Amino acid sequence: ASGYSLLRDPQHNKGLAFTERERDAHYLCGLLPPAIIPQQLQEKKLMQNIRNYQVPLQKYMAMMDLEERNERLFYKLLIDNVEELLPIVYTPTVGEACQKYGSIFKRPQGLYISLKERGKILEVLKNWPQRSIQVIVVTDGERILGLGDLGCQGMGIPVGKLALYTALGGVRPSACLPITIDVGTNNETLLNDEFYIGLRQKRATGQEYAELLQEFMTAVKQNYGEKVLVQFEDFANHNAFELLAKYGTTHLVFNDDIQGTASVVLAGVVAALKLLGGKLSDHTFLFLGAGEAGTGIAELIALEMSKQAKAPLEETRKKIWLVDSKGLIVSSRKESLQHFKKPWAHEHEPVKDLLGAVKAIKPTILIGSSGVGRTFTKEIIEALASINEKPLIMALSNPTSQSECTAEEAYNWTKGKAIFASGSPFDPVEYEGKVFVPGQANNAYIFPGFGLGLVISGAIRVHDDMLLSASEALAGQVTEENFEKGLIYPPFSNIRKISANIAAKVAAKAYELGLATHLPRPTDLVKYAESCMYSPVYRNYR
Ligand code: NAP
Ligand code: MN
Repeated sequence: ASGYSLLRDPQHNKGLAFTERERDAHYLCGLLPPAIIPQQLQEKKLMQNIRNYQVPLQKYMAMMDLEERNERLFYKLLIDNVEELLPIVYTPTVGEACQKYGSIFKRPQGLYISLKERGKILEVLKNWPQRSIQVIVVTDGERILGLGDLGCQGMGIPVGKLALYTALGGVRPSACLPITIDVGTNNETLLNDEFYIGLRQKRATGQEYAELLQEFMTAVKQNYGEKVLVQFEDFANHNAFELLAKYGTTHLVFNDDIQGTASVVLAGVVAALKLLGGKLSDHTFLFLGAGEAGTGIAELIALEMSKQAKAPLEETRKKIWLVDSKGLIVSSRKESLQHFKKPWAHEHEPVKDLLGAVKAIKPTILIGSSGVGRTFTKEIIEALASINEKPLIMALSNPTSQSECTAEEAYNWTKGKAIFASGSPFDPVEYEGKVFVPGQANNAYIFPGFGLGLVISGAIRVHDDMLLSASEALAGQVTEENFEKGLIYPPFSNIRKISANIAAKVAAKAYELGLATHLPRPTDLVKYAESCMYSPVYRNYR
């Protein structure tokens, strides 16, 4: 290949880092200015450029340009500056990017499979340049973050999630495939936007939708085999639960909004027990919000409780109560409930709001997963604090404006008694001379390591026990020093090490369950996971 095309190939391009010898050997002389700038210095320069942009979307675009130009340098930046760049490459900035995707679209970063491709999805998959795919993240764009239906412009989400699979979990970039399924959108603004990039029609539903997904799932398995992980992302909740149940027995599927969330929150709860005291089954949980996040978390907590206490799941579920938009979920509502809420319809008289539910149920742990901000009011938090020596409050709704309460409110209203974690980040809070550091229940703690664990063991199915293993692994990374500050999650800066530990525990479980196909089992799975992780350091070309 010519030197010019080498510079145009993001997987091999090193820009000014090409050495004299490489420049000679690969016909690069004259195509680059004389200076040789090593990767470390390139990184310094680019970070300066990115920090100079005031607008987050500009930083996002600078990062995307870099990915298209020099993939290794992109990942080097992301890995070395993870706390700074995560909010750019992923939420919240990626949300804005999706909203404006029509205007900023430059080159395909993933596959678009629309109703037009019906009947030939297998051929479409073959158009993707990479053959050996390990992880697919797919969305249909119906519920992008908290922003709703963004149709085809949801593509930013699979792209961003997979960048994290690589940066945080070490899955090779070439083994990652972002896919957007376009069945239309009900977003009127987009349908009327001349720059909209998707199908200009209302969403297909029912049989038409199910058939397209069936064809897609069949084609994926046919083309990539049994071991490819398909992560469903940001589907509306009815489809999310259905797809997971339908394909969970035939494919390696994972839904981060349901299962990843559940695993990261369970990890926080398990870690928090060190501060709260008692066993998991000694606690009573109350949720505000009974959707993908709420019921997913509730189910995984009940499962862990049932394993620990050796009690049937039907019993441990009774320690967990949920409130939805109609009030406390109770048995008298059972007939009219969506099926994923039915397990939570316990015997109780109707209670119409959260304050009433707190007083009636007397939870030790309060979890917000409704998407509605400011719903943990002073009255509610004071009621919780009056029942508990140390309540655990998890305000999971994103973005920050939708958080059920702020960190400051949680600490102030409980007079510094609360353990607090949230979905969106909050700064440390000083209360009566003590500094409290709120933890962030970020899904990015779990899914990259979880996926890596599946990949390195060659797992063919996801089992709930693997989610429990991931939670235990994450909870096990919280140190005494972290606990002292009130943290129930480890610092994010150690994420690659955390991911390797999670991957090892998940892989171990896959082997134990007979779901692993990568044989023989490596003896030291942590070492093995680390050795499999992609490194963004430049390679030498001879
Ligand atoms: P979802 O499936 O749409 O569920 C939302 C639930 O909240 C539904 O049960 C809904 O009730 C209920 N709800 C809505 N408004 C309410 C109100 N005013 N009072 C009481 N309940 C109300 O959404 P999701 O995917 O579960 O996500 C929910 C939130 O969790 C989002 O803000 C998301 O950002 C956050 N989240 C955080 C993390 C994390 O921290 N790692 C992970 C995932 C999600 P009905 O069922 O009656 O409609
Ligand atoms: Mn999501």
